[in-house]
Amino acid sequence: RPLVVWFRDDLRLADHPALEHARRSGLPLICVYVLQPAQEGMRGLGGAASWWLHGALQALDQDLRACGGELLLLAGSAPDVLGQLASQVDAAGLVWNRRYGQAERAMDAGIKQRFRAEGRLASSHAGSVLHEPWTLRPDGAPPYQVFSAYWRACLRAGEPPLPLPAPADLRFASLQGLSLASRRSLAELDLLPRTPDWAGGLRAHWVPGEAAAWRQLQQFVEEGLCGYAEGRDFPGQAHCSRLSPYLRFGHLSPRQIWHAMSAAALQHRLPGQDLDKFLAELGWRDFCQYLHYHHAALESRPLQPSFEAMPWRHDPAALKAWQRGQTGYPLVDAGMRELWTTGWMHNRVRMVVASFLVKHLLLDWRDGEAWFWDTLVDADPASNPASWQWVAGCGMDAAPYFRIFNPILQGQKFDAQGAYVRHWLPELAKLPDRALQQPWTASSAQTRAAGVRLGIDYPEPVVEHAMARERALQAYAQMRAVR
Ligand code: FAD
Repeated sequence: RPLVVWFRDDLRLADHPALEHARRSGLPLICVYVLQPAQEGMRGLGGAASWWLHGALQALDQDLRACGGELLLLAGSAPDVLGQLASQVDAAGLVWNRRYGQAERAMDAGIKQRFRAEGRLASSHAGSVLHEPWTLRPDGAPPYQVFSAYWRACLRAGEPPLPLPAPADLRFASLQGLSLASRRSLAELDLLPRTPDWAGGLRAHWVPGEAAAWRQLQQFVEEGLCGYAEGRDFPGQAHCSRLSPYLRFGHLSPRQIWHAMSAAALQHRLPGQDLDKFLAELGWRDFCQYLHYHHAALESRPLQPSFEAMPWRHDPAALKAWQRGQTGYPLVDAGMRELWTTGWMHNRVRMVVASFLVKHLLLDWRDGEAWFWDTLVDADPASNPASWQWVAGCGMDAAPYFRIFNPILQGQKFDAQGAYVRHWLPELAKLPDRALQQPWTASSAQTRAAGVRLGIDYPEPVVEHAMARERALQAYAQMRAVR
């Protein structure tokens, strides 16, 4: 009787506790991925993440074939299609690595119960976070509200266990003759855009899969880790790892990254602050999972209920200008164009564009979250809404709403020479540094010399900074007056 290994957000072979558990059973394995529709509180993937998933499944299938197996693809509601698979092959059981959202956990609990009731084995394992949410606090204590206290508890808990090696001797059950209505080929999953094919920029910037993840990690160790603590804030520099989509789809586990970075820092004698800062960012990822575990409606309800009364504006034209990188604020527009082209955006710029949406444009953070969900290759059901809530001021440990980023000063501070803005907004490339982050201050001689016509080649600002700031503060005061 075969044992089914259910791959979800852990599309790798190494450090995969469920796969290791299955291997040790000695039973022949069936490795399966289920493409589920949006259902029961779980979100369907956005466009860019779907593109990534296609490549990720292809890579996992190739890796399994190299070991003598293959990846079975199914489409439909997971409890139904896994139940049908188990009956048809008379499976000994099902194993998986845990996810932490409440809807996902409820579904997993149902499946576990059903399999066990049928006399099959069902076991879940920890593979996607450094520390599982329930391990950090004694039972009954309220959950952590702020990251610093949470992170101290993680550090007190000690290093995560060493990662498992890639399994060497896997045995597989044959899938020949398996006929299930839910079985699909990769092409039939229909994950890639057709007309128009908007994924050219994604193909140019990313290679999904476990092998590519390790190459990306290696490149970061060689070029980015040293100087990370300072450099990570500067979008024109190569000091961030770009590992987020690999983590999102589980081509690497956080504990693999933890130990690889710690070893590299030791070997290259890197400053402790670079390693500490990087590990703390992995901690932020865990913290978002922790919030997702504790708050079911993370993407739809503000964690601070007072924000339900926030008088968000309805302004489709302003939302569209933001989505298309046409706000007239260069750092914001550069970020939004980087996102549209590559499916990724630098963290500092994510904070600036998100703040611009919720404060300068006074648009609902959920509109921005939804756009990121559709356009990010790393769109994550925990990190994306938790980060949006953080920027909007309604999340846990959030920046207060009344602290409003000035997009001009942010540009002058973190992109002082304008390398980032000039790259993504070539129409402004020839403006002098002083005018680059606020082109409307350029003299007509400067714009002529730069070959840019404001209002034609590049928009005038959609809102004036001081007015927008005042409007946001008034809206916040109005919200607080509602008790
Ligand atoms: P690095 O700086 O190299 O950090 C290493 C890893 O730590 C990242 O890959 C990521 O997994 C994790 N990490 C780093 N910073 C954060 C953070 N602030 N919160 C949570 N995890 C973090 N990250 C996502 O993975 N998916 C999202 O959908 C997402 N949406 C975001 C939306 C907004 C509005 C903001 C402000 C941030 C969002 N982030 C999200 C967090 C962060 O911007 C990205 O994780 C980071 O930019 C990815 O780049 P990197 O891999 O080079 O990060």
